Amino acid sequence: AAQVAPPSTAAPAPVPHPDCVFCRIIAGTAPSRKVYENQYVLAFWDIRPRAKVHLLVIPKQHVASLKELDDLSVETRAALLSACVKVARDQGILEDGFRLISNSGTNASQSVFHLHFHVVGGERLREDAI
Ligand code: 5GP
Repeated sequence: AAQVAPPSTAAPAPVPHPDCVFCRIIAGTAPSRKVYENQYVLAFWDIRPRAKVHLLVIPKQHVASLKELDDLSVETRAALLSACVKVARDQGILEDGFRLISNSGTNASQSVFHLHFHVVGGERLREDAI
């Protein structure tokens, strides 16, 4: 009988977006302080932390923002949210509480156009700030 390859569960190789700093971090050509990685997502420290803990969780596949969420696989979408909670737990900020933010587009003052979630905590956060 002919051998049939099992369906692949591996994520497709990410397609780097030109001039995207987070794609360079994923590719390893720009430095970052990584805290977690799997085949779908990467988590690392924000370069300018605005709280005692300030991490970024990003998909390895480039999309600009939540506006393009549907371009990601369902596995990647699930992995993003799970990774946010995992890194919060690993940093010890789950119990006392933390904030999860994704700035999307002009009105939110998004500055890096590769989808990312800010995981912010480790201290009491102001209501009107991240
Ligand atoms: P946004 O304003 O788009 O929601 O957030 C972008 C975040 O990315 C900012 O908090 C900024 O400090 C962070 N950031 C920008 N460039 C880099 C970088 O090269 N490395 C890291 N680790 N963070 C960055």
